[in-house]
Amino acid sequence: MPLAYFHHRFLPLEEATVSIATHGLNYGTGCFEGIRAYHNREQDKLYIFRLREHYERFARSCQIMRIDPGHSVDEMMERTVQLLAQQNFHEDVYIRPLAFKADPVIKVTLEGIRDEFGVFAVPLGDYLPTSGIHVAVSSWRRLEDNAIPSRAKVTGSYVNTALAVTDAHLAGFDDAIFLTEAGHVAEGSAANFFMVREGMLITPDISENILEGITRQTIMQLAHDLGIPAASRTIDRSELYVADELFLVGTGVQISPITRIDHRMVGDGTIGKITLQLQSLYNQVVRGESDAYRSWLTPID
Ligand code: PMP
Repeated sequence: MPLAYFHHRFLPLEEATVSIATHGLNYGTGCFEGIRAYHNREQDKLYIFRLREHYERFARSCQIMRIDPGHSVDEMMERTVQLLAQQNFHEDVYIRPLAFKADPVIKVTLEGIRDEFGVFAVPLGDYLPTSGIHVAVSSWRRLEDNAIPSRAKVTGSYVNTALAVTDAHLAGFDDAIFLTEAGHVAEGSAANFFMVREGMLITPDISENILEGITRQTIMQLAHDLGIPAASRTIDRSELYVADELFLVGTGVQISPITRIDHRMVGDGTIGKITLQLQSLYNQVVRGESDAYRSWLTPID
């Protein structure tokens, strides 16, 4: 039976429940993370990928939202390791930490409300196909940082994601690409965005209302180590239609190549060379198959 850590103890996931009157449920006043642990089959061992970086971003999200998770980054990391160690998973796992305004208060404020923290883990395979997707530029705009802080992973802001991704799915696409109010490319529905033009790897600048993605930062590091020239800058919509390669990155989606966009082929319609190179190294790194990046992994014993 899956377990959760909630109310400062470990308990069955189905018992980790809240009241219908919970502030965070009514007003979206919560912060969360999405972390992956990968199963290395040969070693029959789980490795959590970039656990500290995820909890450090979680702490920054909570700081913006005036939420006190009541645990330090180190404590949350430790509880997460204990949660996995108790469950003996033999497959890839998705870990979901959540902190939220917990009191049953009918008042829209971030002040004077008790906060709670919990974390649970569930088995999860691929979130999007990793073999080539068809995406659409969404008519919904990515949240402005001055409306809902885009670098904070806030529960309520995923209304924006749900609107865009649902419309994309109903229109027959696999995912949506968000533009900013200024019309620049921001990101996917729950993933950061990369493009390759003339051998150069390009991702939207951090000030384009994007989430400060941990996979985005990982990919920039891997590109550097592979000698692939990379930069972050403003990306225009029409560049999407002439780029050589496009792909999405994120903890959930991992590296998801985009082979068609708005009914146009990307490059020759197959997965590009640089995308394949990064995908292959990323898959080795997250599963603990590469010694060079061990410091990014937390093994579960
Ligand atoms: N943007 C958004 C809106 C997301 O929800 C995610 C997934 N957390 C990402 C980007 C990718 O971030 P990361 O690589 O840290 O998972």
